[in-house]
Amino acid sequence: MENRTMEKGYFGEFGGSFVPEDLKNVLDVLDENFEKYKNDPEFIEEYNYYMKEYIGRENPLTYAENLSKQVGGAKIYLKREDLNHTGAHKINNAIGQILLAKRMGATRIIAETGAGQHGVATATACAIVGGMECTIYMGKLDTERQALNVFRMELLGAKVIPVDKGQGRLKDAVDAALNDLVANYKTTFYLLGSAVGPHPFPTMVKHFQSIISEESKKQILEKEGKLPKAVVACAGGGSNAIGAFAHYIDEKSVRLIGVEPAEAPTLTQGTPAVIHGFKCLTLLDENGEPQPTYSIAAGLDYPGIGPEHSYLKTTNRAEYVTVTGKEALEAFQTLSKIEGIIPALESSHAIAYAIKLAKELDKDDAIIVNLSGRGDKDVEQVYKMLQL
Ligand SMILES: *Cc1c(COP(=O)(O)O)cnc(C)c1O
Repeated sequence: MENRTMEKGYFGEFGGSFVPEDLKNVLDVLDENFEKYKNDPEFIEEYNYYMKEYIGRENPLTYAENLSKQVGGAKIYLKREDLNHTGAHKINNAIGQILLAKRMGATRIIAETGAGQHGVATATACAIVGGMECTIYMGKLDTERQALNVFRMELLGAKVIPVDKGQGRLKDAVDAALNDLVANYKTTFYLLGSAVGPHPFPTMVKHFQSIISEESKKQILEKEGKLPKAVVACAGGGSNAIGAFAHYIDEKSVRLIGVEPAEAPTLTQGTPAVIHGFKCLTLLDENGEPQPTYSIAAGLDYPGIGPEHSYLKTTNRAEYVTVTGKEALEAFQTLSKIEGIIPALESSHAIAYAIKLAKELDKDDAIIVNLSGRGDKDVEQVYKMLQL
């Protein structure tokens, strides 16, 4: 492997840990424990047990035959994270981190959530593994807009704390969770939801999401007898994409393509800056603050991106492209109609780009699209958008 992680927690100039000293100490302990357990056979066995028995892995790599024939280019394969228990990839990471928390003797799990998806994954993982209290911080405005997700987390046994400070959005929930962690670090584990934040979170989240490409590589070799031409994934914070890319990064013949919403083009238009405790490519406003973004897919609505994606972009190992909300909405309907799969709006961005890409490739080529989640959560929103 090249000098990808030159210094611990750095990917080239990106990543690092830009946090106050007391938080840094807590994160150092987390890092030591992650390094200690990640290759521990018992830990791996337990993770694999939950992945198989509760999450339903391994999930299929489905050849989307109808779609491929309609497009008339490369064969399009779908990695079915939508078939996981809870309907998306986020649970892979939530289970991994909870098992680590248990090893570290934590009795409390805390997490932040925006629209509620990571909160639900965390609450589910807490219920499955058991023995730990679960507290979810959520902006007050978000709790009002996502009342059903709040109820879902409560059903799963979590306590949801509405955060009234600031604008009552995700950033305020993150601040509240970090304050809680610093005050209660002896008993509490902060379960972060994407491949972002200070070290060791991006490395840890990638580790637990790498199961996606570990499986897909084996599956594509079985089905096609060769590697894919490209792997395509949507990128919000970047966790499903880095998990879908991980086992192909050293396979130089495989194109890695991250798809961002044109409304939040972090990598395609961002500049290097430190936000939320780490350095990445990011969209800043004229005052140097993270720029508010708007994507129809709540999970892609983040002004930054994981540090490793920033590095893969600047070193040209991966390509990053944009798709508009309108194109994603069309792909959402296309996949539903001709494959019988309703994709998450986030994943629909990847589908939309894969359709364009497949047309440019040969019929003998195969591409993999990471179907990060199912679209049941988005049906009502799409219904309303289509009425306009
Ligand atoms: C949260 C979410 C995303 C975006 O998060 P990443 O960390 O970029 O993967 C994408 N797809 C679905 C279905 C999600 O729930």
